[in-house]
Amino acid sequence: RTTAPPVLDVRDVTVRFAGLTALDGVSFTVTPGSVHALIGPNGAGKSTCFNVLSGLRRPASGTVTLGGAELTRLAPHRVAALGVARTFQNIVTTHGTVADNLMLGRHALTRAGFTATALRLPGARREQSQHLERAREIAELTGLGAHFDSPVGLLSYGDRKRVELARALCLEPRVLLLDEPVAGMNAAERARTAETVGELRAELGLSIVLVEHDMGLVMRLADDVTVLDFGRAIAHGTPDEVRQDPEVLRAYLGT
Ligand code: ADP
Ligand code: MG
Repeated sequence: RTTAPPVLDVRDVTVRFAGLTALDGVSFTVTPGSVHALIGPNGAGKSTCFNVLSGLRRPASGTVTLGGAELTRLAPHRVAALGVARTFQNIVTTHGTVADNLMLGRHALTRAGFTATALRLPGARREQSQHLERAREIAELTGLGAHFDSPVGLLSYGDRKRVELARALCLEPRVLLLDEPVAGMNAAERARTAETVGELRAELGLSIVLVEHDMGLVMRLADDVTVLDFGRAIAHGTPDEVRQDPEVLRAYLGT
């Protein structure tokens, strides 16, 4: 295991909703280039944690730093611009083609912005075609190459989930947050997505935080695991370590 400084450092994060502590002093670190799984029973606080990491929810206390820069109180678009991209547990994409959706992802990076594009300034046009080229590469990388010009509404469920993944990648993130990337997929789609995630880590050197209920997938893909239960981090370790941890077994089996 590496001693490199963490790319993401989550320290003592607490989130409260009326009468409920959704995260209670949660800390963990993500090693650069690793897959870090965040697991736990329903309601444990996994999605809330992602909301904090992506700037959608301000914690009552605690900090999140990315390569030493504090993200904790930044707006979501600033967090994304610094290199943290996410997918959502539930698919939202139903409009436009795959290319349209990926270009929306790219626009967050577009220096010239929409105005210059609308005015058809030559620099903006060149930039636009570079973005389109990169969007096409990302589509290839995520197995959507053949569907680049297809309306998203005509794609299979598994492919629409891939569009979400591809759109997040269009931000060229350092850290990718995947919230249940294989939820609702059939066995073949799950296997394909697992393969894609493995390739992303290898080819792009991405650091990935993975929330997933499919334990087979977690065991296969994760380097490190943090287990949440009722908002508390009850265990950290390798997949093999945490699955033998008595407190983890208790949380899952309810004994
Ligand atoms: P998980 O993703 O692990 O299933 P969540 O982070 O979605 O868990 O939820 C953690 C806890 O916080 C749950 O008890 C949930 O009901 C509660 N919760 C989540 N979001 C809100 C919210 N916006 N308002 C109030 N309670 C919430
Ligand atoms: Mg959730």
